[in-house]
Amino acid sequence: MGQKLSGGCSCGAIRYETDADPIVMLNCHCRDCQRASGGGYAAFMVVPKAAVQLRGEPRYHKIVGNGGKAVERGFCTNCGSQVVAKLERLPDVLGLQAGSLDDPVRYKPAMDIFTTSAQPWDHMHPDTKKLSQGLPA
Ligand SMILES: [Zn+2]
Ligand SMILES: [Zn+2]
Repeated sequence: MGQKLSGGCSCGAIRYETDADPIVMLNCHCRDCQRASGGGYAAFMVVPKAAVQLRGEPRYHKIVGNGGKAVERGFCTNCGSQVVAKLERLPDVLGLQAGSLDDPVRYKPAMDIFTTSAQPWDHMHPDTKKLSQGLPA
């Protein structure tokens, strides 16, 4: 068991916590993450879904991602914060938006994915693993 992780949306209507260790931490540069986040990428701390206690009711917006599988982004209907993401391809995990963590400094990305759509104004850390597409199945 790892250290407890907690976080939530800007207004506090949605909160989550988990004792699980993150499986992977990654920055996704796909176009959909850019649109949804309004920035160059989305930063996800990926954790086992079963280990997360989620309070509140995120609304999920579903799109079919670059890999042909659905991605559902959960956001707060009150304040609009993106909080979690569910992946059809990896149904047992939940992506926690790193910016929603109570202690975001614990986010230490190991990789950058979908770097083919990364923006030239978005500078990636030289030490992360770079994948031109998504995670291998
Ligand atoms: Zn909120
Ligand atoms: Zn993405």
